[in-house]
Amino acid sequence: MSVDISIVVPLYNEEESLPELVDWIERVCAEHGYSHEIIMIDDGSTDSSWNVIKQLSKDYTAVKGIKFQRNYGKSAALNEGFKAAKGNVVITMDADLQDSPDEIPELYRMVTAEGYDLVSGWKKVRHDNALTKNLPSKLYNGVNRWISGIKLHDMNCGLKAYKKKVVKSIEVYGEMHRFIPVLAKSAGFRTIGEKVVVHRARKYGVSKFGWERFINGFLDLLSIQFISRFGKKPMHFFGLLGTIAFFIGFASIIWLVIERISTGADFGLTNRVTFYLALTTMVIGTQFFLAGFLGELVSRSAADRNNYLVEERF
Ligand code: UDP
Ligand code: MG
Repeated sequence: MSVDISIVVPLYNEEESLPELVDWIERVCAEHGYSHEIIMIDDGSTDSSWNVIKQLSKDYTAVKGIKFQRNYGKSAALNEGFKAAKGNVVITMDADLQDSPDEIPELYRMVTAEGYDLVSGWKKVRHDNALTKNLPSKLYNGVNRWISGIKLHDMNCGLKAYKKKVVKSIEVYGEMHRFIPVLAKSAGFRTIGEKVVVHRARKYGVSKFGWERFINGFLDLLSIQFISRFGKKPMHFFGLLGTIAFFIGFASIIWLVIERISTGADFGLTNRVTFYLALTTMVIGTQFFLAGFLGELVSRSAADRNNYLVEERF
């Protein structure tokens, strides 16, 4: 039996919000006649979230639960939810009631009728702390747009909708949940849109992420860009840098020698600053090459080195 929508909810210590959230989702799905499942991933909660989920699954057959042994993080929870999802459209949503289930119908329509691979929510009006969240988030999203080339205002919004094949072909690990659109784009899904969504203040519980998210997020963005461009050919990155560095060093040494011969000046090469700079640059160049070869060894033995996403075949 096919399911219209899988709603994937990662959660960590959100016991108070869950009943309200599930009631609300159920109401929206019943109104629109969607067949659906609600996959709740308990990311190692230490409160009674899991018991609440088990109770909810008795009241609603759509509720399914996955419980982690410990807290692995939001990315791991989403990844597990994506693996389990059976719906033609998959919608992710935070558990804390900051995202509104009333957005489901329009997100669903954009994916099914307008053909988007991925629609990301945009919390245009945000109800979070201005100094620790809203302002850094604006800056951060600007840098994201610039580096990734994906024109989204709010890359890290928890409320997103996907075609099934998108979630089945990406792997969310580490803290990469902030960059799912980048992962999707690098897997070849280009129809990425956004929808302004209502954002609400947290009603219960506390936020699980602080300001350090922006630093970690920036580092992750660099990694993800590097991996998607050079993951399968690291030598093209390191080899280029290595060649440039080595030749700058080598050319400087030649220059020094020519200068000495042509002017007949009696200076010892080792008395010149340029000599040491040139030497260092050549050593750094060689190091880049070594890093490149190591990178090639790693990528050659990676389990997914020949995993390609086939769109059609006949
Ligand atoms: N979350 C999770 N594992 C974690 C941290 C957070 O599953 O280790 C869930 C959390 O319960 C919530 C969602 O991820 O459903 C977003 O977290 P939060 O609301 O704390 O983030 P914020 O809205 O403050 O950005
Ligand atoms: Mg939240």
